[in-house]
Amino acid sequence: MQYLPQDDPVVAELIQREETRIENTLDLIAAENHSPLSVAEALGSIFNTKTIEGYPGKRFHAGCENADEVENLAIERAKELFGAEYVNVQPHSGTSSNLAVYFSVLKPGDRILAMSLPHGGHLSHGHQASITSKCFNFKHYTVNTETELLDYDQIREMALEFKPNMIVAGASAYPRLIDYQAMSEVAKEVGAYLLADVAHLGGLVAAGVIPSPVPHCDFVTFTCYKTMMGGRGGVILSREKYGAKLNRAIFPGCQGTSAVNMIAAKAVIFKLALEPEFKAIQQKTIENAHSLASELEKRGFRLVTGGTDNHQVIIDVTQKGVSGAKAEKVMESVGLIANRNMIPADADKKGSISGIRLGTAGITVRKMAEPEMAGIAALIDDTLKADGNREELDKVAERVLDLAGRFPVYK
Ligand SMILES: *Cc1c(COP(=O)(O)O)cnc(C)c1O
Repeated sequence: MQYLPQDDPVVAELIQREETRIENTLDLIAAENHSPLSVAEALGSIFNTKTIEGYPGKRFHAGCENADEVENLAIERAKELFGAEYVNVQPHSGTSSNLAVYFSVLKPGDRILAMSLPHGGHLSHGHQASITSKCFNFKHYTVNTETELLDYDQIREMALEFKPNMIVAGASAYPRLIDYQAMSEVAKEVGAYLLADVAHLGGLVAAGVIPSPVPHCDFVTFTCYKTMMGGRGGVILSREKYGAKLNRAIFPGCQGTSAVNMIAAKAVIFKLALEPEFKAIQQKTIENAHSLASELEKRGFRLVTGGTDNHQVIIDVTQKGVSGAKAEKVMESVGLIANRNMIPADADKKGSISGIRLGTAGITVRKMAEPEMAGIAALIDDTLKADGNREELDKVAERVLDLAGRFPVYK
């Protein structure tokens, strides 16, 4: 930082403290990651000040030649990376990406079938607190309560009855792969559009370490800051035939001018994602999730769905005698940063949150591997056992600090 300490020492100090917090704790939040500092430089660049209503070559303000070039670059790189015909890099977030997809081909009041939030879905999939539910008529499918897995026959039955105009495949808390082929067969049978929301999985899909939804879906949305490692913002992938409608749905439909600094950061991460190191990180993220899951299972944790196929491991902590909220707090007190999450068993119990959702993206960027996954499983177990005993918790906190210190993020 060159100018900030002078102009605003308070904010400068907070940024410094945030860096220390990141270095000294383990980020196990599945919806976060550490980005390369080149991404931060693009995000913090003077592209931030350019107003760019419209699209490259068709702007509503002058002086857009560099912004046009960087947006075209981000689009071309994303097309190559994901094998998509059409790309929109302007969404401010995952939520605005989804909103724009809904409004591109649907009318207010149209029917959308999506995954229920307590079963792993997302607020922007028609939760009652989200504007999406006020604009469209949502119905929600669930996972099978025994297996905690998606049941495609049940989804098909609901679709036949509800006759949705669009189906959403995608989750924010589902540690398994989604069968996009099966979802597309259901969508075709009932004449619905299919949107895959791979907000969490962008990096894994880009690296080809899990199957891509792109060949099976009309629309794919993702965010750049989860496994994708690219800072804030969303992206829409689609077929060329929906391009004009999607363009209008983002601008002027759901957004005004986009953020050129975020678009530049997207261009940077898409370049890096085409390189072997990115693929290696994504592959390792999945391997680490497998090891973390099996180490936790050895320690008697019940894993939601019994395991993982992606970067998420969701544990039911009530078995260890604590609620999700309590576990989140006590883990935070020793530097293990994760979030409480509803699990399918909570769906019918008002206010109940029994899970902790863990993700291996951030710790993998720090170059942690199998031995560290065993160590982290032990740290989580010891933390929950020591709940209420400050002396024991302080010992765990020392071990977390030591582990974090051996795997720096930025230093
Ligand atoms: C994280 C997430 C989003 C939303 O992203 P924001 O950028 O926070 O709006 C959308 N869908 C799913 C499934 C997510 O997990």
